[in-house]
Amino acid sequence: MELVDNRVPDEGDDVDEYPLLAVRDAVVFPHMMIPLFVGRDRSLRAVDEALEDDHCLIIVTQKEPEIRDPSPEDLYNVGTIASIARTLRMPDGTTSILVEGLQRAEIVEYTQTHGFYQVKVSPIYEEVQEQPLTEALMRAALALFEKCVQLSRSLPDDAFVTAMNAEDSGWLADVIASHLNLDVDERQEILETLDPIVRLQKLSVLLAKELDVLELEDQIQSQVQEEVDKSQREFVLREQMRIIQNELGEMDPLMAEKNELRDKIAEAKMPAEVREKAEKELSRLDAMAPMSPETGVIRTYLDWLIDLPWTQETKDNPDVAKVARLLDKEHYGLPKAKERIVEYMAVRKLAGDRMRSPILCFVGPPGTGKTSLGRSIAKAMGRNFVRVSLGGIRDEAEIRGHRRTYIGALPGRILQTMRRAKSINPVFMLDEIDKVGADFRGDPSAALLEVLDPEQNHAFSDHYLDVDYDLSKVMFITTANILDPVPAALEDRMEVIEFPGYAELEKVEIAKRFLIPRQRDEHGLRGLRFSDQALRKIIREYSYEAGVRNLEREIATICRKVARAVAEGKRAPRLITPQSLYKYLGPPQYSYGLIEDNDEVGLATGIAWTAAGGDTMSVEVTLMDGKGNLILTGQLGDVMQESAQAALSYTRSHATDLGIRKKQFDKLDIHIHVPEGAIPKDGPSAGVTIATALVSALSRRPVHREIGMTGEITLRGRILGIGGLKEKVLAAHRAGLKKVLIPKKNEKDLDDIPRRVRKDLEFVFVERMDEVLPVALMPSPPASRRKRPSSGATTS
Ligand code: ADP
Repeated sequence: MELVDNRVPDEGDDVDEYPLLAVRDAVVFPHMMIPLFVGRDRSLRAVDEALEDDHCLIIVTQKEPEIRDPSPEDLYNVGTIASIARTLRMPDGTTSILVEGLQRAEIVEYTQTHGFYQVKVSPIYEEVQEQPLTEALMRAALALFEKCVQLSRSLPDDAFVTAMNAEDSGWLADVIASHLNLDVDERQEILETLDPIVRLQKLSVLLAKELDVLELEDQIQSQVQEEVDKSQREFVLREQMRIIQNELGEMDPLMAEKNELRDKIAEAKMPAEVREKAEKELSRLDAMAPMSPETGVIRTYLDWLIDLPWTQETKDNPDVAKVARLLDKEHYGLPKAKERIVEYMAVRKLAGDRMRSPILCFVGPPGTGKTSLGRSIAKAMGRNFVRVSLGGIRDEAEIRGHRRTYIGALPGRILQTMRRAKSINPVFMLDEIDKVGADFRGDPSAALLEVLDPEQNHAFSDHYLDVDYDLSKVMFITTANILDPVPAALEDRMEVIEFPGYAELEKVEIAKRFLIPRQRDEHGLRGLRFSDQALRKIIREYSYEAGVRNLEREIATICRKVARAVAEGKRAPRLITPQSLYKYLGPPQYSYGLIEDNDEVGLATGIAWTAAGGDTMSVEVTLMDGKGNLILTGQLGDVMQESAQAALSYTRSHATDLGIRKKQFDKLDIHIHVPEGAIPKDGPSAGVTIATALVSALSRRPVHREIGMTGEITLRGRILGIGGLKEKVLAAHRAGLKKVLIPKKNEKDLDDIPRRVRKDLEFVFVERMDEVLPVALMPSPPASRRKRPSSGATTS
């Protein structure tokens, strides 16, 4: 842009007349050159008028740009006298003119309004005062403007040159205002600010604001640029890599991976609809950007579909007799479980695939061989074996998986385990089915029902997988320590096989035939033997259990220590005797024969059924001066507390027959305690024991210490049957009791008990409490020794 020399009318020429050109969106400043399009009639005439004269007119801005034909009130009063430097007539009748601002002027009067506006104007002269302040202001404004020009993409570089050459502050302000990105009101305000210093100050503020905006814009712009550069770079590098790989005859790793997935899907022997689903996912993967996080999710899903066994099946061992032999070879006893498996194999041989797999439930204390028999069954049948523990599961999603929309979703435990099984017909052991809980996250046993229901499990639905999975060929075996917590609906689906625990003799056999040979092999001790007495001592004094897990552990400990001695070159024993146990296992942990040393008043021995098999359980009754309160301690469950109440009511109502003074009940508090206090106990079968201890305390007749008892009691003194007889009898035997009182109803269950155990124990079958007391209690002490019971009166 070229500098304009001031062709301003002379000073003193106060008023002049010009045609007026109204403009809509622009404000023309002095020293500014700007093209304008002229289209409106009035404007065209004004231009013509100017061209006929001295090419000068006054340009003023409209207050509202929308008004097509503005009246004088619609126009600002201050404008700029300008000269038309060039005119260009357009074919459509409009004209483009290039004007050059000359000088500010104020309209004094409209002398003509017809056709075009002719106005009298008074030109405004600026006083140039060169002071240090002006100089400083100009430099500051110039510096700001320079930065703006550098940052802005719309300001031409020569704008700064023009500004630099402005000769005074007002001029500089006008140059900057004409270039700056201001709206019309702001521009008009600058035009109307006649004091050049004030004008430049106002502009400096606007400049600073503009600079802020430009800097921010610049920052954003460079960030965007950086991102674009990065992805551009990556794209270019990837393309190059692809081309290089092509040149070298290598495959793009992404393509290679997809091809591999495709091949694997083809090989995975999926059913048609699963394969369809897999291929659909694969084409989704194809359509996706390689870096998208979704691709990982799809790949994991496809891996699951590929890895699960869909149709791969192992062939069952057709030789039923051989299966039976193999089962016998690895496990002692357990006839019912073995028989059931052999039966199933035999029927299956005849019926083929139509035969549904049975769902077995092995119930018994720990260490009774449930898991290891499951393993042997799989081995004998020629199937794969997998096992999953359900202990502590409370969430349905653990069984059935989470939907794929969850981050990190996976299939549930059933299908995770099936993947490990690698065939669709494994022996699948679901451990600890009695420890499945339910809470707000849903009931896992509902999902388990579906797994174990032959009507439904051919189409098991896992939330993650989203396609049906066939579990019908799986042979499920569940295990539980006790059946009570297993939901009835679940129990109904299963065939319960009890593993009641082993008698001492059976344990010795298991140890000799299985545990010792195994441990010997594992420790490389071919010659080591254990004497029967040593084994019995380990069983009695080092392991107190229904199963053989601790027994096996103790045998392992001995083998380990002997092996160490051999390795260290010391003399190692060839036979383990009872005497050598102390050396290897330390002092005995249990004293065999847990019965009391004396016959005591108010202390009776019950036999109970626990998750660890059977156990003996003492019931203590103490009488204290009081008001007839009943105190129960030892963490007794509701049912047990009720049976204590029932025992008390029975005793009260039969007091006279039992030789107890009725008045006593009102003067005494009765405290019933069942050690060990920290272990929760429940169940109705302690009724007889509690009643015996009560009668003993109140009548002061001691209880025979070698007698154990079990049975539920009614208010009238009848004795009802109980469960878990075998465990209880084995526990009584283990504890060294001599006589057991059991409900008459349970007489039939005695067949399950090994003959040796039966020989060692005397059984008394009872139907009523009055049959119990003469056997369990000693006769009354002589009348002279009888005294009123007082606190702590538990000993005779
Ligand atoms: P559970 O699953 O009932 O808790 P395990 O199957 O883990 O018990 O058995 C514990 C150990 O005892 C295993 O080493 C197992 O081989 C052994 N065992 C248990 N019962 C027998 C048996 N009848 N014959 C041979 N070994 C047995």
